[in-house]
Amino acid sequence: MLLLVLLTVSIFTFDILELFNFEVSFAKKMAASIKEKHDNVEISLESLKKGKSLISKKNFNEEDILFEERPLVSSQFLWNEFYKYEACEYCLRSLETAENQSRRLTEDPTLTLPLPECDETDQSKYVNCPQCQITYCCQECQKRAWEEYHQTLCMGASRQDENHPLYKLQEMWRNIHFPPESCSIMLIAKMIALVKQSKNKSDILERFSGFVKTTINEDEALVHKMMGEKFQEPLEMLRQQMTDTLYEDTVQHWFTPEGFRSLFALVGRNGQGIGSSSISTWVKNCEKLDLAEEKKEEVDLFIDKLYEELEKVSGSFLDCEGSGLYSLQSTCNHSCLPNAEITFPYNNNIMAVVAKEQIATGQEICISYLSECDLSRSRHSRQKILKENYLFTCECPKCLSEADDPDMTSEEEEEMDDED
Ligand SMILES: [Zn+2]
Ligand SMILES: [Zn+2]
Ligand SMILES: [Zn+2]
Repeated sequence: MLLLVLLTVSIFTFDILELFNFEVSFAKKMAASIKEKHDNVEISLESLKKGKSLISKKNFNEEDILFEERPLVSSQFLWNEFYKYEACEYCLRSLETAENQSRRLTEDPTLTLPLPECDETDQSKYVNCPQCQITYCCQECQKRAWEEYHQTLCMGASRQDENHPLYKLQEMWRNIHFPPESCSIMLIAKMIALVKQSKNKSDILERFSGFVKTTINEDEALVHKMMGEKFQEPLEMLRQQMTDTLYEDTVQHWFTPEGFRSLFALVGRNGQGIGSSSISTWVKNCEKLDLAEEKKEEVDLFIDKLYEELEKVSGSFLDCEGSGLYSLQSTCNHSCLPNAEITFPYNNNIMAVVAKEQIATGQEICISYLSECDLSRSRHSRQKILKENYLFTCECPKCLSEADDPDMTSEEEEEMDDED
C-alpha cells in the first residue's frame, strides 16, 4: 500500500539498502511475470504514495471479470471446521449437499429442498488422504495439497490425538481466538510447510515478500487488533509451539518473537476472507432456471423462508469460512467508491475480481476493504476502521469530497438523529 512502509521494515534481516533493492527488484520481477500471465491488468509502481496499484489494460463493462486468481495458500478457520462446516482441505469447497447443509443450519432434519438438480455437490469425486483421512473435493486437490504442504502437515492416524503437536497448536489457537475468526494459525503453518516442501525456496519466499509489509509498531497494532489486548503471552505460546512443531532453517527469522509477530501482521493485513456454501450455489442455480411464472414464485418464496430460518438459527454463520493470501488481488488498493468487487463464483477459494462499472484502459482498479455495511458509514467511521485494520488514511474521491464533514462516527450521528 504505502511504498515507504513497504520499504522500511520487513520480516527479513537485510539492511535497509539491501531491502530496498530486494523490494524493487522483486516488484519489477513480479510485475513482469504478471505481465506475461495477464492480458487484462498490470501492476504499477508509479504512485509513490500508494506503492503498488493495479491498472486495467483493457476497457471493461460492468460485470466483466477483470481477473481470476488462486491463493498462494489458504485455510479454513478452525472454529468453523470444528462446528462441522465441512470444506475441502485444499480449495475450501463446501462438501455437504445443499440439503444437508440446510438441515444442519436450520436444525430441521426433515427439511427437503426442491429442485435437487440445482445442487452441484458431487460426493462421488471426494477423496480422503490415505494417511489422515481428511477430505478433498477431488483427486486434483488432494494431489496439490500433498505436493505443496500436506506431506509436512499430515497428522496420520493422530488427527484426534491431543498429544500431537499440531493438535496442540490448533487447540491453543481455538482457546485464544473465538468466533468470529479473522485468521487461522493453520494459514501460518501452511506458509511454513510450503517453504519446507518447496523445491525452489527462493521463489516461494519472493512470492511471500510481495505482500504488503508493516513496521514493528504497526505489527504490534495489527496483532493487538487480531488477538485482543492480552496478546503477548498467547502469541509467545504459539511461537514456541510452532517452533517445536515446524521449525525451518530457511525461514528461521519467522520464528523469532519479532519475526513471528510480523508473520501474524502479514496475514492480518493481507489475508482475504473466503466463504463457500453449497446452499448459495444451489440458490444461484435455481435462479438461473427458466421456470414458469407460478413455479418461480413458489421457489422464490421457499428460498426467502429458508434464509429467514437459517438466520434465525445460525445467524451470520452460514458459510465455510477461511482466509487466503492472493498475490495479484493484494495489489488492489482500497476505495470507498470501488470500481471492482471480489467474488467467489465457484464455491471454492478461486477468486474472481469483477467490474462494478465501466473501467477504461489505464484506470486503476480499486476494491473495497470494508464490508458493504461499513462502507455505508460516515467518513470518520470508515477511516477509523481502515486505519485500525489496514493502517492507512483513505484519500479516495468519496473521502475527499466528505473531508469537511464533522469527525463523527456513524453511531454518534445516529444518536444525534435519534435526539432530533
Ligand atoms: Zn477441493
Ligand atoms: Zn493427511
Ligand atoms: Zn475513502
